[in-house]
Amino acid sequence: MIDLRSDTVTRPSQAMLAAMMTAETGDDVYGDDPTVNLLEAEAAALSGKEAALFLPTGTQANLVALLCHCQRGEEYIVGQLAHNYKYEAGGAAVLGSIQPQPILAAGDGTLPLDVVAQFIKPDDLHFAITRLLSLENTHNGKVLPLSYLQQAWEFTRQRGLALHIDGARIFNAAVALNVPLEEISRYCDTLTICLSKGLGAPVGSLLCGSAEFIQRARRWRKMTGGGLRQAGILAAAGRYALQNNVERLREDHDNAAWLAGALREIGVDVTRHDTNMLFLRLPEDQIAALGPWMRERGILLSPGAVTRLVTHLDVNRDALQTLVKAWQAFLAQH
Ligand SMILES: *Cc1c(COP(=O)(O)O)cnc(C)c1O
Repeated sequence: MIDLRSDTVTRPSQAMLAAMMTAETGDDVYGDDPTVNLLEAEAAALSGKEAALFLPTGTQANLVALLCHCQRGEEYIVGQLAHNYKYEAGGAAVLGSIQPQPILAAGDGTLPLDVVAQFIKPDDLHFAITRLLSLENTHNGKVLPLSYLQQAWEFTRQRGLALHIDGARIFNAAVALNVPLEEISRYCDTLTICLSKGLGAPVGSLLCGSAEFIQRARRWRKMTGGGLRQAGILAAAGRYALQNNVERLREDHDNAAWLAGALREIGVDVTRHDTNMLFLRLPEDQIAALGPWMRERGILLSPGAVTRLVTHLDVNRDALQTLVKAWQAFLAQH
């Protein structure tokens, strides 16, 4: 199957599986898994933070970060469409009694700082205490500009807020900007990274921050059920991904650019931002028919009001050519 629904569908390669098979393991809850320890040290070094923590999912990494940043009755300012507001089942509110303060992102995926300023609550017993600004990079495939991140960083220093970046796809941003991760992560206190999206690991996320922060995060990870035992087999996949699958994200971006051009040529309304995602507006009458048509031809999409296509390491240019041909045939009949 050619699967363009998400980059979460990437499967471990033979070489990655071999690294998992031969991983040295121990009990990570005791801190004894050498492969997890290596992965965490490598992630800390890459992000320029003192420490990092390996967690099963990005959702849990964001949750643990929010639980560390905010106490009961405190709040974080976050994008209305951000994953850690909209797509994590309200975990921070349910499990942490933390209030989200969502605001609309600008067209470039940034949260305008003048708007953020308006939503910081004064010190008054009526209000929750504002603790944190949470940004998402990339946001819907958009790379937040470094100049914005620097301003956001300085703004949060002035206003006494912490700054978290949900960097599920932060390496897509780094590759698109052609900078080392550290050039981005210097502008945040904490950063989450997904290994299981475009980087191709089957499981795993990282939370990076100060040593003190990560020590507290370890307790929350345990409490939320994320303390794994011989996690080295998973960490080995993550280490392989960081060593081998970062630079190649460029191919996914190039493929997305190529696909955007090819679909436009056959009359499809396509928007692409900087990285590996396309957003399509399809005529109403095509939406229901397209999914089954493609599925019959071995192609998985999720057509909707806005249809997102995501390129990744399991779809090459040939696969995309197959997709464009199938689309052309679909349009001839609809
Ligand atoms: C995928 C994603 C996450 C975490 O997802 P998991 O499926 O829980 O690993 C967090 N934030 C963003 C922006 C994401 O795209």
